[in-house]
Parts: sequence; C-alpha cells; structure tokens
Amino acid sequence: MIPVDEALAIVLKETVALGDEPVALLDADGRVLAEDVRSDIDMPPFDRAAMDGYALRPADLGAIPARLRVVEQVRAGQLARRRVEAGQAIQIMTGAPVPDGATAIQPIEKTRPLEPAGEVEILAPVEEGAHIARRGSEVREGDGVLRRGQLLGPAALAVLAAVGRSRVRVGRRPRVAILVTGDELVGVDQRPSAGQIRNSNGPAVLCQARRAGADARLAEPLPDDMERITRAIAEGLAAGDVLVVSGGVSAGVYDLVEPALARCGVATHFERVSIKPGAPLVFGTRGRTLVFGLPGNPVSAQVTFDIFVRAALLRLQGAETVSRPVLDVELSAPLKNRSGRRNHIPARVGSEQGRLVARPIASQGSADIVAHAGANALLILEAERTQAAAGERVPALLLGSFLEQSGAA
Ligand code: AMP
Ligand code: MG
Repeated sequence: MIPVDEALAIVLKETVALGDEPVALLDADGRVLAEDVRSDIDMPPFDRAAMDGYALRPADLGAIPARLRVVEQVRAGQLARRRVEAGQAIQIMTGAPVPDGATAIQPIEKTRPLEPAGEVEILAPVEEGAHIARRGSEVREGDGVLRRGQLLGPAALAVLAAVGRSRVRVGRRPRVAILVTGDELVGVDQRPSAGQIRNSNGPAVLCQARRAGADARLAEPLPDDMERITRAIAEGLAAGDVLVVSGGVSAGVYDLVEPALARCGVATHFERVSIKPGAPLVFGTRGRTLVFGLPGNPVSAQVTFDIFVRAALLRLQGAETVSRPVLDVELSAPLKNRSGRRNHIPARVGSEQGRLVARPIASQGSADIVAHAGANALLILEAERTQAAAGERVPALLLGSFLEQSGAA
C-alpha cells in the first residue's frame, strides 16, 4: 500500500501531454491554454473617460462652484474635434477618448448644466487626472496576458476576445473509455430485483471525466465474466487515451479486472493506495494509454477519480494545476481515523463569523452516496493522525461543489 502523494506522483510521471489543437474562441471555455498569449494592443488603447461627465482642466476652476463653457459633446466610439481650452469643458461619456487639453473628468453627479447658456456649473473640486484611465495603464502592447497551462473560463475568454484571438491553441481532449463491472448492476431505468443495484458509478464517473475536459464514453455495465471484461478492456484500450474501469479490483473471487488487464498487456504500477475511501485502486499503462481500476464502492470511485484520474486528465491537456485546492479549516466536531490510511471525511465547509468552519457529515461509509452528495469538501486526516478535536484545524480538499453550490455549512 503506497501513500496518496507517492501514487499521484507515479500517475503524473506516466502522463504525457497529448499535444494541442486550434479551437474557436467560443469553444475554448473549459479547455487548457497551450500557448502564452500576448496583447496586440495597449489597454486601455487610448486615454479613456471612466465616468460620464465633463472633461476639463482643474486649474481653470478657481472658486467652487465654477462655470465652464461647454464646447462639444463626445460619445464612446467618437473623437472630439476640439481641444479643451481655458474656461472650457467637453461633455463626455464613459468609454470615450479624453479630448486633447483636458486633464480630468468631473462626474456628471457633481455638475449642473446651465443649458440655455451653453455652460456647466462645477459643484466640487476635481483632482488632476481624476477618472481618466490612461492608455496602457492596465496592459502594454506585447505584454503577456494569459499563460500556457491555464484552464480557460469566462474571464480568460474576455481577455482573448480583447486581444483579438478568435482562435487559440488548447490541449487536445483526452478520449476516455469508461467500463463498469458487476453482476449485480442494472440500468438506471430498471427496478432492481433481489440482490441487484442500479449502476450509479457510470453516470458519476462520466460526468467527472467530462468536467475534467475529457471526451468520455460510457459502456453498458459488464457482468463479472472474464471473457466479456477482457474483450471490453481490449476495445477500451484501442479507443481511448485513458481507460477507466469501475469495480472488480478488490480481493474477491470475482474481482477479475486485474487479471483481465494483465491479459491485455497492461503493466500495473500500483494496486493499493493508503486512502480511505478507496484502498483498492489500480493504476497501469499500456504504451501511453493510462488505465485506472477504480473501486466499485461509489464514494470510493468518485473520490479516487477526483484525486487521481482528474489530475491525469488535466495533465494530459497540459494543465499546470491538476489538484483541487486544499485549505485549512476549523473543525466543528471531533473526528476519528482508525483506518491506518489517509482518510477523507465528507463535510460542509463555510464561513462562520469570519472563520472557515467544517461541519462533518454523518456517513455510513464508502457506499453512502447521499452523504457524499451533501458534501462540498473532504476533510483530510493523514494515516498517523488518529483523531482531531473540535476547534482543531484540518486540511480540507475543496470539491467542485464548493464553488458551484451556494449555501453555508
Ligand atoms: P467491487 O469493487 O466490485 O467489489 O464492488 C464494491 C461495491 O461497490 C459493491 O457493493 C458493489 O455492488 C458496488 N458497486 C460496484 N459497481 C458499482 C456501480 N457501477 N454502481 C454502484 N455500485 C457499484
Ligand atoms: Mg464487483
């Protein structure tokens, strides 16, 4: 049995990025950037009004309130035809280029137009440079704005759009074949008869793979039959960059996945990891194809996928960061770890009086998918940490649901 970090290091050592491909900007969300991106423009591209108001010269104001002659109006997308001279102002809209001569913008709220006279009354003093966003103050032409290896999302797409990148290079999506094994499994739309259960791992693992950027396919459940499993593994290996098999990897007489993998020429790198839930976890390779044998227990399957398979899928796409964030949080209740393994306890983490507090969720263990579905984090107790008292701090692995589901602990 090897420690989690060692196992993850072995997985990542065998994981070689798949290469990249160009995609259209709007298809780049959720993909990993495969190039450093530089700006082709200054940002802002010109001295820009940051408020609706009047472009003026503060030095002209003298005693407040002061009156200035309004000589022009300039809208976003236009250039003023005139300069602002002594005693003058130009009415300006947010986003418009600041006219020559003007050195500050007075927001409209601090002015009063004197319409018939063609004048404006300035009701408060203005500092030099106020509400002008200077050309290049955010980014200069040629500056790096996004880095290779980062996961693209809406904020990054805004940057790509602003620098004119209608196409961008991203890591190729890994093709993932997913197999689930077990004589007891029936489909979601079937009522299980005595001794049967519905296949819940298939949908969970498929979604996890897709969310990690994979092009994933889920096959019908397989019976615990050596020939059938071997054939399906051979097909999965041929079709994918990654093969994920759920179930059949523990010590039972009908746990046939490991021998079937061996028959198909898969070399095993490890088969047990010091992790709870999920100790039986097989990792192997055939050439550059990665193979994961996940435990059948549904929470074990999801947790080990999140820690190992997700990391590999992101690295195949060239991602820099492949593990979920871990934060120290304060325990609301005591925890025990008698497993002798690194334990992952489902919890809800939220802010309470300015502190990050974790409320452990009562769980019946590695089959309790309902408890797991209520968690937004997994509290980590290392093998040697047999207990933790209320009020102590423990590391919490934040799950995807931490950011996506609102509501406090
Ligand atoms: P195994 O790893 O095959 O020994 O399975 C361990 C436990 O997980 C057993 O209780 C199985 O019934 C259950 N299990 C295996 N595969 C699935 C699946 N696809 N969906 C839900 N439960 C499963
Ligand atoms: Mg089984």
